[in-house]
Amino acid sequence: MKQELRAIRGMNDVAPPASARWQHLEQRVASVLAAYGYQQIRLPIVEATGVFERSIGDTTDIVQKEMYTFADRNGDRLTLRPEGTAGCVRAVLEHGLLHQQPQLRLWYAGPMFRHERPQKGRYRQFHQIGAEAYGMTGPDIDAELILMTARIWQALGLANLRLELNTLGVSAERERYREALTAYFRGHADALDEDSRLRLERNPLRILDSKNPAMRPLIDGAPRLADYLEADSRAHFDAVCATLTAAGIGFVVNPLLVRGLDYYGKTVFEWITTELGAQGTVCAGGRYDGLVELMGGKPTPAIGFAMGLERLIELMAQHEGGDDAEAELCVVGTSEAEMQAALLLAETLRSALPGARTICVCGGGSMKALMKRADRTGARLALIIGGDELADGTVTVKPLRGQGEQQRLGREALIGTVAAMLGQ
Ligand code: ATP
Ligand code: MG
Repeated sequence: MKQELRAIRGMNDVAPPASARWQHLEQRVASVLAAYGYQQIRLPIVEATGVFERSIGDTTDIVQKEMYTFADRNGDRLTLRPEGTAGCVRAVLEHGLLHQQPQLRLWYAGPMFRHERPQKGRYRQFHQIGAEAYGMTGPDIDAELILMTARIWQALGLANLRLELNTLGVSAERERYREALTAYFRGHADALDEDSRLRLERNPLRILDSKNPAMRPLIDGAPRLADYLEADSRAHFDAVCATLTAAGIGFVVNPLLVRGLDYYGKTVFEWITTELGAQGTVCAGGRYDGLVELMGGKPTPAIGFAMGLERLIELMAQHEGGDDAEAELCVVGTSEAEMQAALLLAETLRSALPGARTICVCGGGSMKALMKRADRTGARLALIIGGDELADGTVTVKPLRGQGEQQRLGREALIGTVAAMLGQ
């Protein structure tokens, strides 16, 4: 294939059979979200650049170096969304959704774009499912949101995820902490790596997030935000922790968990696996009480999370056997008239057995060639209509995966027998 006709680096196709796993994931997550009363919102992939610059924060990695920003034909500055929260808040305000429903639970799904260095678990187009809850101040919604994520892992058959929690307090507390932190790191300026030196000026909390092991001792000795919290912030966090404990959800409080976006405050959390190497965070979120107002709305408390689907898919692939995308049934007809009967038989089967995938072996050919193609569909049973079957209205049922003898059945017995053979 010509070089220029390849997918962009870091932007992946999802081809079968992997696409079946994606569908399974999306369906399971959607049904858990629905069970908690979350409603879907579908958002554009492209927004005015200001939507992200204003919300995510211009000292963050995303805004500084990861956004796909371009001028369109009118010269408008547009950006491929790097995350979902900013666009969601923009839409909620634009449509006045909070007037109709002051307590609003929304979810979204779809591709996000960040110009990062592609590697395992880190892509330039990746996919998230995210949930956002607006209008609820108390720790109850924080706990409910985290319980919902725990139920999602259960629905996906994922065990062994670690929940890390922290509180970032409110902005006055963070401001005082920021000053203390800046003073501390300034005092050790010669021990900072280049990345941290940049962060010191722009966003010193982000130094705590450094992945450089050489920075570890310095970070471990840094002041702790917990020591700058007032009673309210502390009580909020304690209540979240207490509910999770009462629900039997294990967690660790990680005082270094600061999250990369400016809009977070109070509760922040991540779900992390050790089974994916360096890119181990599969879900991250937190409270962002200031953002709705910052984007032009009335002050509105809010909390949300986003999960990275590529990382979840990878994890699910490690825990399951093969993809189960294969058909249960295939129908085979040898001539044109028999093939027509086979197509109609397939219609009948799909009505009677909606859970069974039924594939028609189209295109004709010798019986031998047809049976070879039938076998390749992966189906458990072939339903064959040849000349004899067409003449007397029967169907030959042939197990393709070694489950007994083939048999010729009348139409009345067919559905029941096939259903029994499939265990339905
Ligand atoms: P990281 O520290 O891994 O860069 P982040 O803080 O930038 O993560 P968020 O913006 O919180 O990530 O996004 C939430 C989730 O989306 C992440 O936990 C991860 O699972 C996923 N994610 C983020 N960036 C990427 C990417 N480039 N490729 C694949 N998944 C991603
Ligand atoms: Mg990132």
